[in-house]
Amino acid sequence: MRKFKHINARTVEEATDALMRYGDKACIIAGGTDLLGKMKDEILPSYPEALINIKTIPGLDSLREEKGQLRIGTLVTLEDIADNPRIQSRYPALAQAAGRSASPHLRAMGTIGGNLCQDIRCWYYRNPNNRFPCLRKGGGRCYAIDGDNRYHSIFGGSVEEGCYAVHPSDTAPALVALNAEIVTTKRTVGIDDFFLVDVEKSTVLDCDEIVTEIRLPQPPKGSHSAFLKVALRKSIDFPIVNCAASVVASSGKIESARICLNAVYVKPYRAIKAEKKLKGKTVDEAAAEEAAAAAVSDAKPMKDNRYMVQIARTLATRSILACKNT
Ligand SMILES: Cc1cc2nc3c(=O)[nH]c(=O)nc-3n(C[C@H](O)[C@H](O)[C@H](O)COP(=O)(O)OP(=O)(O)OC[C@H]3O[C@@H](n4cnc5c(N)ncnc54)[C@H](O)[C@@H]3O)c2cc1C
Ligand code: SF4
Repeated sequence: MRKFKHINARTVEEATDALMRYGDKACIIAGGTDLLGKMKDEILPSYPEALINIKTIPGLDSLREEKGQLRIGTLVTLEDIADNPRIQSRYPALAQAAGRSASPHLRAMGTIGGNLCQDIRCWYYRNPNNRFPCLRKGGGRCYAIDGDNRYHSIFGGSVEEGCYAVHPSDTAPALVALNAEIVTTKRTVGIDDFFLVDVEKSTVLDCDEIVTEIRLPQPPKGSHSAFLKVALRKSIDFPIVNCAASVVASSGKIESARICLNAVYVKPYRAIKAEKKLKGKTVDEAAAEEAAAAAVSDAKPMKDNRYMVQIARTLATRSILACKNT
């Protein structure tokens, strides 16, 4: 691993000043579970000169309720989210997603902010020593299009012939289903607008911008949510596909729903066609299956990942049905 400066920020302002000073030659470090692996493997086209540590900033790890909203500081760990009884009962999809992420050690270190801001997954991009200088690294081609694309996007690329990598976060689809807001040092942005389909960057964040908090609205009366994931291993693994659903029902009829698949596209994929199908229905198998079919109706799998479409459809069915019982 090459040398870098490690700056312990004491305030958000100090962290922002340091980011502005170094421009694109600095990175925020939270738990470090994604970033340090990337640096060790030298996958980045330009190596950061400085890491700005935000774990030394007091208050960014707070978790509190205010005016019915749940406010989760960016440094709250996945472990603390998974184990929180309030989150388990009011926002089960988020507790389940955090509890299914990575491994116990990584959940103890990994933060919710880092989980949202982690880099995309593609084995050409992540190959050590920057061996595949693809579109994401300023090169001229995507190696996944003609290569081994069994874990790539089933909903197309960033543009035609663009990047087919997937966003691997487990908590992101739960936060989409729960309609979260992301608070940064510059703005508050709805989760639907936070992620980008872009080879330059995965989120709207500027290089001197920091996520400080994630806000969840009070769950409406009659709402239920659930998260499911398929991975090769249960103990520690990124999702092959995951899905979160949140359903609001009154007198047995669905008033609204938010369904989000992830690890299937360059950013979390909100299944709006499925949500529309559910409106006015009861949560039963027929409605869930019809909605799940709509969720994958725009899929355009690549040569090796057709199997992911069936997994996505099954997870969508089951996560909608799980909203009946949570
Ligand atoms: C073996 C292994 C298995 C894994 N399995 C999973 C899995 O199953 N599911 C899953 O979702 N993830 C998984 N991960 C990825 C990672 O561990 C988690 O996503 C973790 O939550 C990242 O959080 P962190 O605090 O460690 O992020 P860091 O590594 O510190 O940061 C990640 C990125 O986010 C940026 N960043 C962090 N915080 C902020 C902030 N507040 N504002 C702006 N930018 C910020 C950093 O600059 C960096 O680019 C796995 C990782 C490993 C190594
Ligand atoms: S899918 Fe994206 S990250 Fe992977 S090789 Fe293609 S351009 Fe690069």
